Amino acid sequence: MTPPATTPPPKTPMVEIEDLRVHYGASQALFGVSLRVDPGQAVALMGRNGMGKTTTIHALCRMLPISGGQVRFEGRDIGALPSHRAARLGIGLVPEGRRCFPNLTVDENLVVAARPGPWTLPRVRAFFPRLAERSGQYASTLSGGEQQMLAIGRALMTNPRLLVLDEATEGLAPLIRREIWRAIGQLRAQGQSILMVDKSLAELLPLADHCVVLERGRTVWQGPPGALGPKIAGRYLGV
Ligand code: ATP
Repeated sequence: MTPPATTPPPKTPMVEIEDLRVHYGASQALFGVSLRVDPGQAVALMGRNGMGKTTTIHALCRMLPISGGQVRFEGRDIGALPSHRAARLGIGLVPEGRRCFPNLTVDENLVVAARPGPWTLPRVRAFFPRLAERSGQYASTLSGGEQQMLAIGRALMTNPRLLVLDEATEGLAPLIRREIWRAIGQLRAQGQSILMVDKSLAELLPLADHCVVLERGRTVWQGPPGALGPKIAGRYLGV
């Protein structure tokens, strides 16, 4: 007799945000954001300017207090956790504006971020050969694209369970954008869980397993990139 089929236990989501609300002082920015990132997934968080993408990311990274809803990371409620504890849980943020230490060298920037795990200085240098070529240079002397690679390299040095990319290619020239998207694609292929925000749908969508669209601080649509038709894109993304 064949044994009864067993269904595998459901995976614990890496991130689960439910009905998130956030205020800046008296002004409410998020009114009900919900999203989920499963392990190994790349999720694109989309929406026009000012719709709440960065606020959602900052709330997840515990840089902003939440006024309501739930933020869970690997099943744990982290809504009240301070940001340094969230980073220690394994949330690696590449912030908008690629903040690196300008007066430290490339290698120093990488080494100060290091936490134990498979991503080490040699591995980051191999992943971004341009950073290896500029290892002794001050971060302030790097081009915008190189600074972005350094910001991603710093996040990788923390060995994040989840990599969060906020506008990773904003303001960069086409060639360097392509290089950075290729690197993000490689990370995804290696199984890295990613939550990413970008305005360029043409570059974002091919890398996304799942899309979440925000409008005025609320999740208004989510689904696979193939289901994001012209009606949704036109209505909520202005394309
Ligand atoms: P963009 O693509 O322009 O970065 P976004 O989707 O990331 O936009 P947020 O930056 O999260 O949007 O902004 C959401 C709302 O919160 C907007 O109305 C914005 O004006 C407001 N907001 C953002 N930061 C602050 C702040 N520090 N103080 C007050 N209001 C803020």
